[in-house]
Amino acid sequence: MSLPTHQNYVNGQYLANKTGATFDVINPATGQVIYHMEIADDFIKQQAIDSAKQGFAVWSAMDATQRSRLLLKAVALLREQNDELAKIEVLDTGKPWQEASVVDVESGADAIEFFASLAPAIEGNQQSVGDDFYYSRREALGVCAGIGAWNYPLQIACWKSAPALACGNSMIFKPSEETPLGALKLAEVFTQAGIPDGVFNVVQGAGDVGAWLSHHSDIEKVSFTGEVGTGKKVMAGAATTLKDVTMELGGKSPLIVFEDADIDNAISGAMLGNFYTQGEICTNGTRVFVHRSVVNTFVERLLERTRNNIVVGDPMHPDTNFGALISKKHHQLVLDYIQKGIDEGATLLEGGEALSPSDSAGGYFVAPTIFSDVTDEMTICREEIFGPVMSILTFDDEDEVIRRANDTEFGLAAGIFTQDITRAHRVIHQMQAGICWINNYGASPVQMPVGGYKQSGIGRENGIETLRHYTQIKSVYVGMTPLESPF
Ligand code: NAD
Repeated sequence: MSLPTHQNYVNGQYLANKTGATFDVINPATGQVIYHMEIADDFIKQQAIDSAKQGFAVWSAMDATQRSRLLLKAVALLREQNDELAKIEVLDTGKPWQEASVVDVESGADAIEFFASLAPAIEGNQQSVGDDFYYSRREALGVCAGIGAWNYPLQIACWKSAPALACGNSMIFKPSEETPLGALKLAEVFTQAGIPDGVFNVVQGAGDVGAWLSHHSDIEKVSFTGEVGTGKKVMAGAATTLKDVTMELGGKSPLIVFEDADIDNAISGAMLGNFYTQGEICTNGTRVFVHRSVVNTFVERLLERTRNNIVVGDPMHPDTNFGALISKKHHQLVLDYIQKGIDEGATLLEGGEALSPSDSAGGYFVAPTIFSDVTDEMTICREEIFGPVMSILTFDDEDEVIRRANDTEFGLAAGIFTQDITRAHRVIHQMQAGICWINNYGASPVQMPVGGYKQSGIGRENGIETLRHYTQIKSVYVGMTPLESPF
């Protein structure tokens, strides 16, 4: 059976490239090629730029209320098409249907709904200066670029396009080459909703297409989600034309369990923060610091729940709650990290091996893995693994754990579990991280800004705050009296 070939999406429709070059997309749960994707060649790239500029002219001139209404139509369509879109995400990413069908499309739609509702509320201000006055306008930036990672492909496309479009910008989005289909479906939805052609274009390809976007002089901003190292390259590219950047990067976040914590709740947090989406989440609390006095109880119940409650298998099966890693290469990388953990002296308590579930042969599965006796300098404790590998560390007092938790170049997230309300706030205020949780881990409602401290990022996504990252202020001074001039 011949496999489908998908094209880039430019100016409100699919557009064939001139070179005919394609790449293969693999279902991580089977290792099989599922479709081909055309690469954005020079023709597609130029068309995308031209179309995004035209789209911007039409869209930014539209009344914000009208933009809002069209975006809300897209929200309704996304929700109507939830199951079809969720299935695409499962096949592209290997994550469980159980998650994608309730989180991925829904959280994307939520973001568009939130920013669409805010669009008509964007305002400037006015101030008197003697008899004169000045006023400010919040204006759109122009053509923005979005570059996405593969773990939440559709959600990332929504989280970037929602504030960009609500503020009147147009966007050229490049999804990860591992998971390119979801963004195309979002583009279709925007067109179905009546959003003008060119407002949201999707170009396909690997890092070179991303680098082209980062450098392009007609693009005013680039919003990037991916690894720290790639983010630095994107920022360097953006510097060549002084583009604004948003950087949503990686992490090695601490999750601290104090002696007075509700242990079962803390275990839920640690499991969600390490095994949800088979560990491929940027905010994961992969360094689990547990107070020495409760570590035995914590580990015992954690192992019991991991052994009894995790169902690995065909991600489309409704019972599966733990899927396949994104690629063969990433699978090997995660296994290599596990080996390093063993070699450097951590105790492997659970998992540690590749799995081959009978209903999903050929997939890139790695068992949920738990290490104890991990120390701060071990590789598994310092580097982002982006897989289902939990490191348990013990601590004795508060100052010590704060210092150790912050001892990293990353600063994406942090979580603490304690029943002591004073300590909860005291400790969380000292965490060098942009996304923090007390007695929770991973919740990310659209109202809440997300983004990193230190090398985990620049700027924020979600929350009202993000409107500022997609607009620029124009100040207008109005002279009401004749100018005083010495000339
Ligand atoms: P990656 O950095 O390898 O790739 C991300 C995107 O950048 C892809 O679309 C890729 O094609 C593109 N790219 C690669 N080289 C480029 C270049 N030189 N110039 C421009 N673009 C280039 O990341 P990934 O492996 O796709 O995703 C995993 C990473 O993403 C992890 O580090 C994870 O923590 C991070 N992440 C962060 C967040 C967040 O919100 N902070 C969310 C999800 C994932």
